[in-house]
Amino acid sequence: MNLTEFNAFEIGELDEVETELAPRRPGRAEIEQAVRTLIAAAGDDPTREGVRDTPGRVAKAYREWFAGYRIDPKAFLSRVFEEAEGYEETVLLRDIPLVSTCEHHMAPITGKAHVAYRPNGKVVGIPKLSRLVDGYARRLQLQERLTNQIAHALDEALQPQGVAVVIEATHGCMSTRGVNQHGIAMVTKCWLGDFKRDDRLRRELMESIRGC
Ligand SMILES: [Zn+2]
Repeated sequence: MNLTEFNAFEIGELDEVETELAPRRPGRAEIEQAVRTLIAAAGDDPTREGVRDTPGRVAKAYREWFAGYRIDPKAFLSRVFEEAEGYEETVLLRDIPLVSTCEHHMAPITGKAHVAYRPNGKVVGIPKLSRLVDGYARRLQLQERLTNQIAHALDEALQPQGVAVVIEATHGCMSTRGVNQHGIAMVTKCWLGDFKRDDRLRRELMESIRGC
């Protein structure tokens, strides 16, 4: 998946919505002023030539990093297909690139999401699963909540036999601060339906994720 595709909903695949989370959004000038304050807080001079255009760039980057607030990710699942001819085994989309932001430190969370479900007559286009992940990821997040939101959205839209979401990610707030714990990944899982009931299915899925 290339980056253009990854950001596809930026360019209008979905209508912008006001999410229930969205309070008043500050205008460009206000955002840029806030970034100048942060540059000064870091100990630099916001009027220095090298960082003069940084506030504008940061404001633009924010639109991308937090694009998930302007859409309802569930809308990616509004189109389901019912011609899967009775396919009932696990569908797994592995290694979906994940970029999110930790809500406690506003530091990047980067990693991979693995999304699986066991159809009950309805399936969804593969790109939609990665958009669903991206839609919830591009908000201020906790990895645990992100994992659950993806799983429950899929469960609601497809009413499948089971849903499993596994996320492995590195948190910038851990890898760049304090003891600089590089290379530590956090793994979160959400099992619903068959996956919750059946440990054989969970084991098989984890093996598929690891590529066995
Ligand atoms: Zn954090």
